[in-house]
Amino acid sequence: MKIKTLLLDIDNRFLFCNRTIGERIRESGKQRLWQDRSGGQIDVIVIHYISAIQVQPQYPFDLGAILGIFCDFGVSSHYLIDRRGTTTQLVPEQKKAWHCGGSIMPEPDNRIGVNDFSIGIELMATEKSGFTMLQYKSLCNLCDSIEMRYGRTFSYVGHDQIAGERAVALGLRKEIKQDPGNLFDWQYFSSCMEKLRACRTSVT
Ligand SMILES: [Zn+2]
Repeated sequence: MKIKTLLLDIDNRFLFCNRTIGERIRESGKQRLWQDRSGGQIDVIVIHYISAIQVQPQYPFDLGAILGIFCDFGVSSHYLIDRRGTTTQLVPEQKKAWHCGGSIMPEPDNRIGVNDFSIGIELMATEKSGFTMLQYKSLCNLCDSIEMRYGRTFSYVGHDQIAGERAVALGLRKEIKQDPGNLFDWQYFSSCMEKLRACRTSVT
């Protein structure tokens, strides 16, 4: 699959409102919007949605505005999939992106600080937009390629499953996250992944 690369560091030349994303990152006093992982295996993929609806209601799926949000809030994710399914890599997989915040894996895993051992994937969507078929397709292809490269099956969680009421009650964070929400079709996603895994094993 084709993946564009647009790393969230000071060399990023993408222009938004007359300033490059790299300049914005430098102005925030950082060199890049990621850090080293603390070690251990990467075995979780966290699914999110993001849009610029709060800052730019007319164009909620504008790439520049969304990258601007990452800079302004000092957050990041490894991948971003737009409405047409175009996939952009923003953070190297081996590095820790800042997509989860305070978080805890569901029972019985219960590991905290999910950023450390996960890959974050943002789908461009709003609370009400739902997700396009092209997005599901790219998401499944991306997850399939990750599983193939790492040689293992990953656990898949939504941001809402690891940063919801339980995380707040445990004092890991202040507010609950609601993405990707009820409109994300986990059943469809799982069945696509099963099909792709079956193809993989029949080929090898
Ligand atoms: Zn999220």
